Amino acid sequence: MDFKEAQELARVWGDKPCEHPHVEKETWYSLDGTPNHNGDYVCTQCGYSMDRKEYEAWKEKKKSQ
Ligand SMILES: [Zn+2]
Repeated sequence: MDFKEAQELARVWGDKPCEHPHVEKETWYSLDGTPNHNGDYVCTQCGYSMDRKEYEAWKEKKKSQ
């Protein structure tokens, strides 16, 4: 997901709690339109951006559910 899209999601979602049911790679676009992965992950529901460490913790939690 594009990080701008994520920011918009986060704005709409507000500060409601979220279980982050689905998380995907956060991307941004170079000037030539190439998508890049910036190493962060983003929740497709609330737009919350997590770094690699948070993502690993999220994955572990998900596995144990
Ligand atoms: Zn979320």
